[in-house]
Amino acid sequence: MKQWFLPRLPTVSQIERISPSNFTNFEQCKLKAVLASIKTPRMLPSGPAQHLGNIAHKTLKESRRTGIQLDECFEIAWQSSVEEEETKIGQSWFEKHLIPIENQKGYDETKEQCKILFKKAASFEPTLEAAPFRGAKKRHEVWLDTEDGRVGGYVDEIAKVDRGEALIDYKSGKIFDETTNGTTKVPIEHHLKQVKLYAALYFCNYEVWPKLIRLASFDGSYFDVPFTAEECLLLLVKSYQLLVDVNTTIGELTLNNSAVVSELSMPSAKSCTTCSYRPCCAPYWAARTELPAESWPFDFCGKIIELKELGNKSLLVELIQKNEPAETITIRGLTPDRHPALTEQSEFLAFFSALPDKAPHAYHEGNLTTVYSLPKELN
Ligand code: SF4
Repeated sequence: MKQWFLPRLPTVSQIERISPSNFTNFEQCKLKAVLASIKTPRMLPSGPAQHLGNIAHKTLKESRRTGIQLDECFEIAWQSSVEEEETKIGQSWFEKHLIPIENQKGYDETKEQCKILFKKAASFEPTLEAAPFRGAKKRHEVWLDTEDGRVGGYVDEIAKVDRGEALIDYKSGKIFDETTNGTTKVPIEHHLKQVKLYAALYFCNYEVWPKLIRLASFDGSYFDVPFTAEECLLLLVKSYQLLVDVNTTIGELTLNNSAVVSELSMPSAKSCTTCSYRPCCAPYWAARTELPAESWPFDFCGKIIELKELGNKSLLVELIQKNEPAETITIRGLTPDRHPALTEQSEFLAFFSALPDKAPHAYHEGNLTTVYSLPKELN
């Protein structure tokens, strides 16, 4: 089947482990987390910010690995990371238009921030007077897990500090919650849970607690996370419970994939908006119909009434929606090269991540807009 034909959801199977980085996904939507755990390929593009974050992450990893912070070395490491990321993006039919990544919003700022951090990679480090990291021994990408391996993952860095070790988790995005009122900066909740879980896993491995756990962002900010042994162990217990719950559901309903999908799914505007499995998620489409007032992503699925080329060679599609109120919508500014489904003469199409125009029921193509063709049996 062609890649731009709407895929079916894969058969959901039991998972072997929960990782700290996937833990909050399980709290948001178990189906999304299981699909990610069984390595289901993404069906929608990641935003440029994610790709730039990957590039910065890899570049800084190189600096931390070699300990070299010269300008020329930064340029070489950055360029090599860009090429690696662009190679991956270029293999994806719905992301390759994001190349060259240097044309994407935020490229120059991310590169500048990354360069500053690259040149003084140690500046993440000497912040606790009582526990200086400078010159300390460090280990990168360290695997931590429980004895049975059911909860585990790689922590970015473990550094020796005064009378113990520090766990450091690097974030490519912001670490503070921008929705917080007032002047006190509050870290993003799921980052906190993730590093506390690493602390619990560290305890499982070394029978001692880390002296410090730190969230560090590529924008230069960092936060040393206060923690107690009890709360970290509670998160570990919760991870086990989630693993058992999910695998029990999958085991009991193993012959009926739609029942598993329906049982595990937790559709909401918040979790679905950032989920790349929307194209084939029936509970998502059902929830949109049941709760139309929610702020769902601008996704549409329906029968083409008209598809025409505009003066600037872009395409305009008029569509009558299939699942939702049978209203007609238009989507303009579609780049033919980006959407092979539009040249397939399909009768039914599904659009994801369109952007709204000012006029009602009118939308246009955005950087992440993706179009799938619906095979006949789904029409
Ligand atoms: S689209 Fe929504 S309901 Fe479906 S897997 Fe993703 S987050 Fe869960």
